Amino acid sequence: MIMKPREESLELKIMRSLLIRMGLPGPDELYYLNLKQGFEGESEFDDRIVPLLDGRLVINDLLLEHHNTLFQIDSLMISTKSIYLFEVKNYCGDFYVDGERWYSIAGNEIKNPLLQVQRNESLLRRLLQDLGCNIPVEAYLIFVNPEFHLYQAPLNQNIIFPTQLNRFLENTKKKTSRLQGNHKKIAEQLLSLHLTETPNFRLPDYRYEQLKKGIYCPSCFGFYQQNTRLYFFCAKCGEKEDYETAVLRSVQEFKLLFPDDKITTNQIHEWCKITKEKKSTRKILYKNYKQVGHGKSSYYVK
Ligand SMILES: [Zn+2]
Repeated sequence: MIMKPREESLELKIMRSLLIRMGLPGPDELYYLNLKQGFEGESEFDDRIVPLLDGRLVINDLLLEHHNTLFQIDSLMISTKSIYLFEVKNYCGDFYVDGERWYSIAGNEIKNPLLQVQRNESLLRRLLQDLGCNIPVEAYLIFVNPEFHLYQAPLNQNIIFPTQLNRFLENTKKKTSRLQGNHKKIAEQLLSLHLTETPNFRLPDYRYEQLKKGIYCPSCFGFYQQNTRLYFFCAKCGEKEDYETAVLRSVQEFKLLFPDDKITTNQIHEWCKITKEKKSTRKILYKNYKQVGHGKSSYYVK
């Protein structure tokens, strides 16, 4: 059973929106692509562990703190006898290890992911102890991308390579797991400790005026050029999206990019750059949000 599904991070959503609406300089675009690749790898892993969900509890993207130290767990799985911590990496290409250091084949050093797993495992174990939970922790570094290769890989059973993932999951599935009240309780305790505020991430500077207005297609990210009273159509990929759904998606995007700005009919009408009369924008906002104030100064809140 999934106790907390995975969602795209705010950082990933904002960076994508900026890339589409104003473009990003090379390093920022690369940073966005890394975030995206990481999320895709984690989602891939989520699909792979579906057969294990029966009799086990899964919590995704858990941000915890132990004695003022923050740590993030990609995927945590509670079974009868073990609590699994999975650090998922979607690395692609050739890498090598030299002692404690990891490098891309071009010779660029990357953060040693094994150290990251060990650190998280230690923090999680101590946190569980504080909660009075003595179920042993098993931590694994999972590589999901079949295009990944590591030269001089350390002989370490906590690293699961793409060619080992099937067997690892099969073996884990074979271990019977029947959850009891204490398992659910520990899952709920961990969820209650999850920090919802995101740590400060670095965003490129952007202003409203710089961003291209309009609604973009959720499949190919091209801007919609055509619509009827009921639908938007993407000329690039053929996507057809319900009119109201598309507008509301863009309102959420606006709020994400400009959390301090008010949602008004004029503002959203300009942001979405829709051809239909303003009345329809007002109607959508009125139906889905709560109106504050009246007349020209009115705005909408969730
Ligand atoms: Zn499209």
